Amino acid sequence: TPEIISAMLERIEQDNIRFLRLQFTDLLGLPKNVAVPAKQAEKALTDGIGLDGSSIEGFVRIEESDMVLRPDPSTYAHLPWRPRENGVARFICDVCKPNGKPFEGDPRHVLRTVMADAAKDGYVFNTGPELEFFLFKMLEGRPTTQFQDVGGYFDLAPTDLAEDVRREVILALTEMGFEIEASHHEVAESQHEIDFKYSDALTTADRVVTFKFAVKTMALMRGLHASFMAKPIYGINGSGMHVNCSLARDGKNAFYDPDAPLQLSETCMHFIGGLLKHAPAITRVANPTINSYKRLVPGYEAPCYVSWSASNRSALVRVPAPRGNSTRVEFRSPDPTCNPYLAFAAMLAAGMEGIREEIEPPAGANGNIFHMTAAERERAGIGTLPGDLAEAHRALLGDDLICKALGPHVVEALTSVAQAEWDAFRTAVHPWELDRYLATY
Ligand code: GLU
Ligand code: MG
Ligand code: MG
Repeated sequence: TPEIISAMLERIEQDNIRFLRLQFTDLLGLPKNVAVPAKQAEKALTDGIGLDGSSIEGFVRIEESDMVLRPDPSTYAHLPWRPRENGVARFICDVCKPNGKPFEGDPRHVLRTVMADAAKDGYVFNTGPELEFFLFKMLEGRPTTQFQDVGGYFDLAPTDLAEDVRREVILALTEMGFEIEASHHEVAESQHEIDFKYSDALTTADRVVTFKFAVKTMALMRGLHASFMAKPIYGINGSGMHVNCSLARDGKNAFYDPDAPLQLSETCMHFIGGLLKHAPAITRVANPTINSYKRLVPGYEAPCYVSWSASNRSALVRVPAPRGNSTRVEFRSPDPTCNPYLAFAAMLAAGMEGIREEIEPPAGANGNIFHMTAAERERAGIGTLPGDLAEAHRALLGDDLICKALGPHVVEALTSVAQAEWDAFRTAVHPWELDRYLATY
């Protein structure tokens, strides 16, 4: 509306902003942006800014490539790491076709659509992610896999660069409107986690993209590389992005029922039922890289079996202890390479089907699932997550509900990406093969 636009223009002026970054994400969840001088703000907010979609991963073919970026005024944020004077602010944009209709390949649109469907039943999907990442040293401008904190063996007591990076990230994100809840060193050397407060899934997905971008920027300013790769180093914990999920209805947490077993409502149990039913297909978008599957193996606090539990961390879905308004389920398979819009869309579609079809989950698995034999797992109704990207992609193609949630455009684009990645990977000769076979044969 004209009022919002003029308020926005005033704000831009007040904040001394000279450049606007119009941000959106491609199919892989990587942030893209077009910078325009702040003088263009009125035009950008009124008519949008044109974009050639043909060079964006998963967007469109050359002959239909004209797209329009429409800034979402609610996402305005000053980028605190850029100069204060003549500053830079960003808007996250919706991607539209020249006729003004939403573009089916825009991940934000995909999530919005699934959320609108849940809203028909009165539900708001809230998510709170736990992003883990490594800080590595750079060598001659290129990232390495050398740890930044060398295991604490050397007590040299210089400034801990990682601590500084975490501090800078938290300050910057707080300024951008994040509410940071916790930050800590993770299990592995040089591995960190910063958690921010949950919000509706669209806001959270926007924040996940901003978060990764901010962490990378802050690390680089200290000469370090922040990597969100799922499993950068063999033999030690990978990086996950556990997602705490809940549904709100009429302003109340719909997963909480003080009178139900475990105080988990029917709605919550059915949501879990839907998540577990569609877990293999969801994996395709929650774990989208070849490397993602090297994390989903036993022994590193990442799930590989399809089960839920009110307590143990080896399950795919865990119910953390808090109840009341904090009641939630923690979906533990996603990793930070996922496109958060697509991952949240798939999860919500699955959970909503669970609720509408009243899907009961199997009994909760309370022992350590990794210690069960295959036969024991089978008896307990515990399936296995896909073992690699090709298998996950087949699971997606076989799952009508998740395909429908993502829409044909996205499924087709994901198919070409998976095909290309998988072919490149399976034809490459890996160091492991040389170690294993070169001398022996
Ligand atoms: N890094 C583990 C993972 O890959 C998770 C550790 C934790 O429980 O926070 O999911
Ligand atoms: Mg963690
Ligand atoms: Mg967790």
